[in-house]
Amino acid sequence: MSALDVPVTELKGVGEALAGKLARLGVARVADLLFHLPLRYQDRTRITPIATLRAGLEAVVEGEVAASEVVQGRRRSLLVRLRDGSGILSLRFFHFSPAQQQQFRPGSRVRAFGEARAGATGLELYHPEYRLLGGGAAPVEDHLTPIYPTTEGLHQSRLRALVEQALERLDAAPEALPDWLPGPVRTRFSLPELQHSLLVLHRPPPDVDPEQLASGRHPATRRLALEELLAHHLSLREVRLRIQADGAPALPSGRGLQARFLTQLPFSLTSAQRRVLDEIGADLAGTTPMLRLVQGDVGSGKTVVAAMAALAAIAGDCQAAVMAPTEILAEQHYRTFRAWFAPLGIEVAWLSGKLKGKARLDAKAAIADGRARLVVGTHALFQGDVHFQCLGLAIIDEQHRFGVHQRLALREKGEAGGLTPHQLVMTATPIPRTLAMSAYADLDVSVIDELPPGRTPVQTAVVPDERRPEVVARIRHACAEGRQAYWVCTLIEESEVLECQAAEATRDELAEALGELAIGLVHGRMKAAEKAEVMAAFQAGELDLLVATTVIEVGVDVPNASLMIIENPERLGLSQLHQLRGRVGRGGTASYCVLLYHPPLSAHSKERLAVMRETTDGFRIAEKDLALRGPGEVLGTRQTGLAQMKVADLERDADLLERVAPLAEALLASCPEASRPLIRRWLGEEAGRYGQV
Ligand code: ADP
Ligand code: MG
Repeated sequence: MSALDVPVTELKGVGEALAGKLARLGVARVADLLFHLPLRYQDRTRITPIATLRAGLEAVVEGEVAASEVVQGRRRSLLVRLRDGSGILSLRFFHFSPAQQQQFRPGSRVRAFGEARAGATGLELYHPEYRLLGGGAAPVEDHLTPIYPTTEGLHQSRLRALVEQALERLDAAPEALPDWLPGPVRTRFSLPELQHSLLVLHRPPPDVDPEQLASGRHPATRRLALEELLAHHLSLREVRLRIQADGAPALPSGRGLQARFLTQLPFSLTSAQRRVLDEIGADLAGTTPMLRLVQGDVGSGKTVVAAMAALAAIAGDCQAAVMAPTEILAEQHYRTFRAWFAPLGIEVAWLSGKLKGKARLDAKAAIADGRARLVVGTHALFQGDVHFQCLGLAIIDEQHRFGVHQRLALREKGEAGGLTPHQLVMTATPIPRTLAMSAYADLDVSVIDELPPGRTPVQTAVVPDERRPEVVARIRHACAEGRQAYWVCTLIEESEVLECQAAEATRDELAEALGELAIGLVHGRMKAAEKAEVMAAFQAGELDLLVATTVIEVGVDVPNASLMIIENPERLGLSQLHQLRGRVGRGGTASYCVLLYHPPLSAHSKERLAVMRETTDGFRIAEKDLALRGPGEVLGTRQTGLAQMKVADLERDADLLERVAPLAEALLASCPEASRPLIRRWLGEEAGRYGQV
């Protein structure tokens, strides 16, 4: 146990209560205090002439009391006039004691620190920190004063003193905090040394560039941010290595079966689909578990790619599983795969959390004895009581909904024969490449960068609610021509109940206005079977209009639907809108999306909706989304933990992302033993165990 690797209660004056408050800041060990970095700084290292002070500046001033009196304004206050030869300002106290009143005798010298504001008497410092000076020279602070993020009931000065204690311990035992980046690696990447960086950030010298420090561009901040990104990257790599240390069944060729499948499809594969399938095929042929992410914009045809991969597994005498994030999408996949595979004599089973009783037992039996060659379902597929006879390939659709941990749970499902299944992860969330490298460092990436031919881009209009009647007329018109339409009601104040009620009310309203149409309704509070029935009816063309909540966001595929109305679109993120809009424009006809908003719309919302109108390119939308909402929101908090970083800021430090992989290579080549401690330092004890589940 090093001097720093001990609980904070080892520090002087830290009891259980204080430790509890520190825990809220993520500080458990003394070392954590060292990585608890200031939010900003105050400059108390020099005395500012009063004449150069401006409103809004924090500064130390020093001068002589010219006068002091209690004044009756709107509130009674003590006003002290302070003069320093360059000018004069006032210190104002609304709370003061008679003793304080006495202190400020004309002629006494005072040093005060505070933020200057424009007040009734010119520049004023309200309730400054101050002290009266005796005869001799009083030294100023020798470094900038850090202001730390803190929590209720923990005073800044208290926290500062604790960090000081931690820094003293570090000073006494520098070896307790190793710099895991060796000298040559630091030199190559121009990184300052760890302890030096921490010292600079906790006690910045007066000559530090304040702009650099404030903007997070100081080399010390950058070094720590890069180290944190590196730790995340290493942890994902470790997950990958652990998985790949196990063997996987070699699934060399499903060619015959795949060819039979392709002949029954009404279209031929795009060249992007074929290229991605080649990449998948090469992985499946090996005995190292595949860990591959397929990225393809909405409508690019990922499902067929999944089917082709599943056929390779089935031809290799293994089972394949397809996991989808929602019941609706899982249901749809089940129908699609059953229709595709039944003619090939392949049995497809269905499993979701809502499947109960005998049906569940039957499904589990078919999965366990291997009758079911393909299993489609929700994450219920990977719960403890489900056993596969021989799972060779696990396909996870719309990956952005699942975290690393859920994917790890897959490993255990291959247990028969001690082999680990291959993993294929599919996502329509096109995230910028460097971000992808960090978020998915454990996955190889294939991109379907082409849409099937004959698609016309969805045209999008942003329309205020006053024009609702026109929008309704448009639905009537589209349905009269044999097309189908969606009407999407978005989340109301995070309440699913209210959202569903709104959807019901909208359905009633539209039924009234469009009496001749068959209108269906799906929302999150309906039973799975009811939802499935409505979706099947819509897919079969028995319903003209589907009123829905955002449950239809991902994956739903009804090519005949060519019109989508999204109510209150400003409530959704851009990527989510893109996903929703991707439900239309899937067939050959021109499709339309109407973003129906309730005025007034903020400037920010206008800008976002304009992006939707201007482009249908998922990558551009994701980039905009990233710029407007930040990476945490875009990736989702359930992602890899990238959203909860301590120092790094994916936007501010975007340029560091591309240095992460080369840095990891360099480190692993020269000092592989540094990997674990780095992961532990930044991601905590738990992450160190990631790989071992
Ligand atoms: P996504 O990538 O969004 O999951 P899907 O797999 O649902 O897209 O495919 C969207 C639609 O395009 C489906 O109706 C599918 O049958 C069709 N499709 C897929 N590949 C092709 C292709 N190569 N040519 C024509 N249509 C295709
Ligand atoms: Mg899909």
